[in-house]
Formats: sequence, structure tokens, C-alpha cells
Amino acid sequence: MIELLPERQPQVVRKADGAPAADMACGKASTAGSVSQRACVFCGSRVVLYPIADALHIVHGPIGCAAYTWDIRGALSSGSQLHRNSFSTDLQEMDVIFGGEKKLEATLLELIAHHQPKAAFIYSTCIVGLIGDDVSAVCKRVSAKTGIPVLGVHSEGFKGTKKDGYRAACEAVYTLVGTGDTAGIAPHSINILGEFNLAGETWILRDYYKRLGIEVVACITGDSRIDDIRRAHGAKLNLVQCSGSMTSLAKMMERDYGIPFKRVSYFGIEDMSAALYEAAKYFSDDPTIMHRAQQLVREEVAAIYPELQRYKQKLVGKKAAIYVGGAFKAFSLMRALRLIGMETAIVGSQTGDKEDYKQLQEMADPGTIIVDDSNPLELAKFCLEKDVDLFIGGVKERPIAHKLGIGFCDHNHERKEPLAGYIGMLNFAKEVYASVASPVWQFAPRRARSK
Ligand code: SF4
Repeated sequence: MIELLPERQPQVVRKADGAPAADMACGKASTAGSVSQRACVFCGSRVVLYPIADALHIVHGPIGCAAYTWDIRGALSSGSQLHRNSFSTDLQEMDVIFGGEKKLEATLLELIAHHQPKAAFIYSTCIVGLIGDDVSAVCKRVSAKTGIPVLGVHSEGFKGTKKDGYRAACEAVYTLVGTGDTAGIAPHSINILGEFNLAGETWILRDYYKRLGIEVVACITGDSRIDDIRRAHGAKLNLVQCSGSMTSLAKMMERDYGIPFKRVSYFGIEDMSAALYEAAKYFSDDPTIMHRAQQLVREEVAAIYPELQRYKQKLVGKKAAIYVGGAFKAFSLMRALRLIGMETAIVGSQTGDKEDYKQLQEMADPGTIIVDDSNPLELAKFCLEKDVDLFIGGVKERPIAHKLGIGFCDHNHERKEPLAGYIGMLNFAKEVYASVASPVWQFAPRRARSK
């Protein structure tokens, strides 16, 4: 019997039949003792910026902070592989006493000379905030000596939630926007914000937009290059996928360069198609873009639909739990699960806001549990109560599912199959089917007990 901590109760809602959406508590510091699934501020910055492939990424702090390496937070690059290295100043006791600035400067000068990056990002961790290293001054000095942008990311782990890390990453990357030449950018051009090319998704999307006749100036940050980001202000529209992480960058670009932004999702047939139509509608001065979008959607859906139907027949009535970083991804996942006949019994996020949770409640079936900033015990309790067949989450949710004997689908940084676009929807259905239908779950203790 697992009890909810009393302080956690306002962050959990059960959708009641016909009732209006409840006002859920969210957007606050994690409850002490709750062992939140949320990552720290530094980790939030790191996941957003690390896919920039031709930059140095240096974790200024003790070596433990650098534990999330490319191997478990991977992002693919079509060129430079510099981002796959993990660099850290490895601060030790004497650095904590005497300060880490000299070590940081020496590290930067050595690495820049050796790797010749286009820019360097320095991530401040908790200890750097505590000892008060002047990272900005070091960045300025090294930038003057080397001639490349050296950007401090103010991501001290203790100073907020993962969402504050997203904001720190956006502020750092924004210093590059507007510093490049925009000559030659097509009149119908976009930036994709919040797509990280974990398993090749950016390449799928770039191909779709190319087929529509729309130029992608920069994808921030999937398979991105410093020079692309520098000229991103030349695009006419920003499409924001991971809204939790990138809305602040989109707002800054709207404020300073007048570039409007739209929230999109590239996951699932409905949302992928809506994202293409959104751009086509924006560039309505050229109606051929809309015609091409309609044709692309027709062709791509026709190519995957029969196989999707086969999976649906096998998955209908199965139940899933969703726990992801941003709530916008949860909306798409719920729609995609419905398309293959599955129910969402539990849905939650680390960083959703009030509007997100209202929408999740409106979309959910009666009885669905909606949860903000959850923890392993709560998630285990809800999974057992709802007897779900599948858990969709990231690296920290996988062991919860497997310990309970539940199928798991990685929708985060560890995955190796792209889940965006039409082919991504088919990959998703295949993976869900392979996991849910695996005969191994019949041997899980909870299933064996119920026989
Ligand atoms: S919470 Fe602080 S010490 Fe822990 S990983 Fe984040 S930055 Fe490092």
C-alpha cells in the first residue's frame, strides 16, 4: 500500500466524468522528501545545448555533474562529432577553497587550441554558484584571446527547476542569434526550435519542409551548427516543438526581430500534419506550398496506414502510462496512442503549467490520473492501480517499469529509432507492440499472482 505525501496531493488529479478541469498545483519547487523525477537546472541547460555539434561543452564543476554523457543523452550529428566528448573542469577540494577560475581558463585555452571549436559553452554547476567563480569574466577573457564566442550558461543546479535550466540555455544561445549574415535566405523560411535530433528526427523534418519548398535556416539545437544559429534571425517563422524548453527563445526572437512563433508537435500523424499545414498557412502568399503539404500528407499517411491498422488490431484496449519532461509531448503521445487503439490511464510531466494540465484533463478519459512532478513511488503506485501494459518515459522511468514487470517505450534521449514524422509514428507503433506483446511479462510477479 503506497500512500501519497499530503503535500503532493494538490499535484495529482483524477479526471471525473463530466466535471470541469480541476485547478492543479504545478510549477513549484519539488516537495522535500518526494525524490522527484525532475533533473536539476544544469541538466535542463545541458539537454538543450549539447546537440550543438561544433561547439565545446564544458561542465564547470565536480566530475559527478558530468555523469550524463553522450551515451545516455545522445543527439546525432551529420558532421562534427565534437559534442560527443564530455569535458569537465573536475573541481576538487583545493579549487573549492581557492576558486576555480584559473583552472577554467586553462581548460578552455587548451581545449580550444586542440579542438578548434566554433564556440564554447561553460555550464555552471552548484558548487560554482557557491564559491562564486566569475565565469562571465573568464568567458570574456578567453573569447578575446581566442576570437570565438565563449558563453557562460548560468545553470547552477540548486537555483530552481529544470525549467530554469531551459531558460539559462536559451539566454546563452540567444547571444549568438543576430551575429551572422542573413543574405541568401529564402522568402519562405523557418527555424525549428526544440527538436534535438536524438535519433535522426531533424533529418526527417528537414526533408518534409524541403519537399514543401520551405527553407530551414536553423534547427535549434538538433544537428545544429554555430553559424546556422548566428543567422537564425533571418527566418520568417519559428516553429516551436519542445515548448517547455524553447518558448523563451522564441519570445526573445519575436520581441527583437519580429519573428512570430507557433507551437507544433512532430509526433503522431495528426500533429505532424498540423505542423506542416501551420507553416503552409503562414506562407499563404504561395498557395503551391499548401498543395505540396496536402500531397505529402496523403502520400506519407497512405504509406504507413495499413501497417498501423495491423498494430491497432493487436493493441486495442491496452493501457499506457505516460510520464515525460514537457506536457506538450504528452498531448501528442495521448493522440498517437488513441490512433493505435490504446488508452492512456496515467499521464504526467515534470514541467507542465496550469494551461497544460487543463488541456490534459480535457483530453483524458474519465478515471485517468494526471500528475505533476511525480516520484518513483507514486508512479509505481498508479501503474499498479491502473494495471497498465506499457510505460512511456525516459531513462529514469525505465527501471520503475521493468521492476514492476511492465513494457517500456523510451520517448527520450536513449532511443535509437526516430519517432518524429510519419515514419516515426510507424516506428512508435512497432516498438509499442514489441514491448506490450512480449511474452516475458506473463512471468512478472504481479501477473503471475493474478493468474
Ligand atoms: S544538482 Fe548541482 S551537483 Fe547535482 S548534478 Fe546538478 S549541478 Fe551538479
